[in-house]
Amino acid sequence: MEESESILKDVNDFCEKLRPIADICYLEHKFNDQIIPLAKEFNILGLPVPREFDGRGADIFTYIKAFERIGMEGTGIRTVFSVHSSLVQKTLMRFGTNEQKERYLKPSVKGEIIFAFALTEPDAGSNPLELKMNFKKDQDSYVLNGTKYLISNGTIADAIIVFAKSTIDDKMSAFIIDTDGEGIEKEELVSKMGTPTIDTGMFELQDYKVDVNNLVGGEGQGWQIAKQALIEGRLGVAAGCAGSIKDCLIEATEYSKERMQYGKPIAKHQLIQEHIAGIEVHLSSSEAMVNRAVTMKDEWDKNPGDKELMRRADLAVAEAKLFCANAAFDAADRAVQILGGRGWSFLYRPGRHLVDTRVCRIYEGTDEILKLKIAAGVLGKQYRAYF
Ligand SMILES: Cc1cc2nc3c(=O)[nH]c(=O)nc-3n(C[C@H](O)[C@H](O)[C@H](O)COP(=O)(O)OP(=O)(O)OC[C@H]3O[C@@H](n4cnc5c(N)ncnc54)[C@H](O)[C@@H]3O)c2cc1C
Repeated sequence: MEESESILKDVNDFCEKLRPIADICYLEHKFNDQIIPLAKEFNILGLPVPREFDGRGADIFTYIKAFERIGMEGTGIRTVFSVHSSLVQKTLMRFGTNEQKERYLKPSVKGEIIFAFALTEPDAGSNPLELKMNFKKDQDSYVLNGTKYLISNGTIADAIIVFAKSTIDDKMSAFIIDTDGEGIEKEELVSKMGTPTIDTGMFELQDYKVDVNNLVGGEGQGWQIAKQALIEGRLGVAAGCAGSIKDCLIEATEYSKERMQYGKPIAKHQLIQEHIAGIEVHLSSSEAMVNRAVTMKDEWDKNPGDKELMRRADLAVAEAKLFCANAAFDAADRAVQILGGRGWSFLYRPGRHLVDTRVCRIYEGTDEILKLKIAAGVLGKQYRAYF
């Protein structure tokens, strides 16, 4: 319990120190190069990693509370933690060899290695099974070829989990690759509409050699690994969205009590109260959805081999992610409306949430794909409308 409090205090202190820096980065539309140094300073780059690997060993409830707090600072900032910790550290904890844990997981806790997670390609988004990156074995190495697209931390990461298919049997495998080898070309994607303060990139691998020891899990296990990683990732996205709704509520409430129009604070106008009530209901419902998903995820974590618990956790997390992403976007929209003309600006936080949270309805499973997944969970596998 004490450890949980101290973790959440460090996360809160990190957020408070980062905020004025993030304010400037939003106004200048520039990459925030202080997220990682400050996260190092507060020792929060290995929240879920067990202490034997130098991490903070946060239980899942603390971890998710941390994501809610970080989400208040913005979807961009939370995305950095989602990728580094939920998608990669947790995958290495579950599927990595002891050598991979020593070589990658341990240094990542101190921020000596920053991670990215690369599943998406130009021709494989909603359906990752259509990916084209391939690998073939060559003595003690695997040789990888292909392009990954729209990758968070893509050009700043020191190591990336990539997914590729065998040239022999087309089965998907996962590899952890260092990004300083010969045959990698990276490019930052600068034209995105939101999350301006973090890195999103693409990279191409040309005859990129990876040691055989960098295979994560077994050969052909890539799709299982990706699916489990996405359960971790989506839960963090849902929690982060609950955080951004909370921030919108705080900002909109404060502003509406101060701003005077027609001789009274706008908070006294009934239509403004409708927006406040809407944001509040989004917050309480999102928190409830996240709590339900965390509880089910915790049950599965305690019995990792239980397929039924995994199925239930997967669905509860998908529902939470779908709900919270949409609630967060609507909450930000309502908060912008309450701020009126000032809302349509990066000077105020709701506008930043509006542009940033929109991507939560796209990455780690689009709204549409999650709806199909949830419907298949209700109707049964034989009704599955997708892979
Ligand atoms: C800022 C940002 C960061 C990202 N970070 C990462 C990352 O770190 N790692 C990573 O691997 N990926 C990342 N992504 C990629 C993201 O996961 C994909 O964009 C997403 O999965 C959708 O794929 P797509 O863009 O190719 O869209 P498409 O798959 O082309 O889909 C286009 C539209 O068609 C719909 N659609 C597709 N198939 C169906 C169907 N069967 N039924 C109904 N509708 C369907 C989709 O829902 C969507 O509305 C990121 C994306 C963005 C924008």
